[in-house]
Amino acid sequence: MKERLLLFARSIRFRLALWFVAILAVVLVAFSVFVYARQASDLNRATLERLSLKTRQWESYLKYAARDYFGEDPPLIPAQTQDGESFLQEYDILALVGLQGQVVQKAGPVQDEEIQHLVQVGLEKRTEEHPFAYNVVEATAEDETTSEEYRFVVAPITLDRKVIGFFLLGSPVDPNGQLQRLLVTLVLGNVVTLGLALAGGTLLAERAMRPVKMITRTAREIGESDLNRRLNLGTQDELGELANTFDAMLARLQAAFERQRQFTADASHELRTPLTIIGLETAWALSARRPAAEYERVLGVVQSENEFMTRLVNNLLTLSRMDAGQAGFNFEALDLSDLALEVLERLTPLAKQRGVSLGTGDLPEVKTTGDRQYLSQMLANLVENAIKYTNVENPQVRVETGVEPSGPGAAGFAWVRVEDNGPGIAPESLERIFDRFYQVDQARTRNESGDLEGDPTGEQQTSGSGLGLSIVQQIVQAHGGQVSARSEGGQGSTFTVRLPLAS
Ligand code: ADP
Repeated sequence: MKERLLLFARSIRFRLALWFVAILAVVLVAFSVFVYARQASDLNRATLERLSLKTRQWESYLKYAARDYFGEDPPLIPAQTQDGESFLQEYDILALVGLQGQVVQKAGPVQDEEIQHLVQVGLEKRTEEHPFAYNVVEATAEDETTSEEYRFVVAPITLDRKVIGFFLLGSPVDPNGQLQRLLVTLVLGNVVTLGLALAGGTLLAERAMRPVKMITRTAREIGESDLNRRLNLGTQDELGELANTFDAMLARLQAAFERQRQFTADASHELRTPLTIIGLETAWALSARRPAAEYERVLGVVQSENEFMTRLVNNLLTLSRMDAGQAGFNFEALDLSDLALEVLERLTPLAKQRGVSLGTGDLPEVKTTGDRQYLSQMLANLVENAIKYTNVENPQVRVETGVEPSGPGAAGFAWVRVEDNGPGIAPESLERIFDRFYQVDQARTRNESGDLEGDPTGEQQTSGSGLGLSIVQQIVQAHGGQVSARSEGGQGSTFTVRLPLAS
């Protein structure tokens, strides 16, 4: 439980809601303080204005009262003015004080000592220039019984220009408790609003974060076996975009996984055929005594199949090394034409044996950078294919190199082209010949590979398992180049490799 709470406290939705509430709280408190301060200052001003008005009324009354009725003593506090208007409101304080500080008369909830103290404070506030001007003199006091805040005025009572006493007039700032009520309302309002905001904010954040939870759960559930699962969130927002990206990544992973699985299956399949042949042949040879010539034939088959498997395994190794980025390329500056000539020389015996005329076109100096061994293997694969698949009358294979100069907006490159006048490749196969293990006519290829048995250039024979061209592509791509195949209407095939020029 505690852990869940901790987890919730750390969650984005809670932190989002908290931020939201915190910002709202700052705004609300600032607003409340403003409203409260404004109200307090309004009340204060209203009290002071009222006191000022009352003081003037008193002043005129006292002048008249002092002269006509009371002589030396301060006059009595009347309940009302002559027009019957009440002088004092409820909670108002009025006191008449003699020159010696004696409280002559008082009205309202106030003690004598307090009156004396207030008069003292009021008198201390006089200025030299205006000793007894009838200005409002403020003093703040808290009445004990009501604990109200008061404003007071202390003013002199004069008779014939002589000060005969003072009067103290006080009025509560907020007699109806408006400020208190406002404070309660504001505090309650703020608390309720913030509570609602926290609940609502958490709920909203929870809803907004729901897809994230779903993504997390799905990601956790997805194993190797169910890579075909997708989130399919279907929303257009940021999370929808995240889910789409996730789905796309899953699709790529699935495809890569599928390719890997296919690759393993194909490799096993390719190995099974020679193993079966070896198994059958040896079982046949061992099942009875055979003439020596038969044993020789069987051993020949075993050797040939062994060579096929060796080539296949070597090709697989090359591919997987390149896949893993461990091919260990040794880049150096080289001339593509020189390399092409070397490869042609090596393959001449094979071409001769197959009755293929191996020719060259232009072979100018073409500087490029690459791994000599890998590029040589790449060229050999292309030329071998051309020799192997050109089983027509008067078969011809031609190798040519050149440089495409760089133009505006296009970088220059070195190219090498292997052309043959064979039967060509059908358009639907053309798209797939670079795929691993893809063979246009598997049976034919396998047989032809068998035909090459005992060839002195055995190691240069085509693999006959559909890996040759994918190795070509892999090598070319690792050199930053491109390979393309063209074949139109049974008019032979042309393979072109483009490589970056040496800088
Ligand atoms: P393989 O080991 O079968 O030669 P590749 O990857 O080298 O595998 O070639 C794939 C397929 O492309 C081959 O089965 C072959 O049918 C076709 N192919 C390759 N080169 C040529 C060519 N020059 N002419 C006709 N078909 C070709």
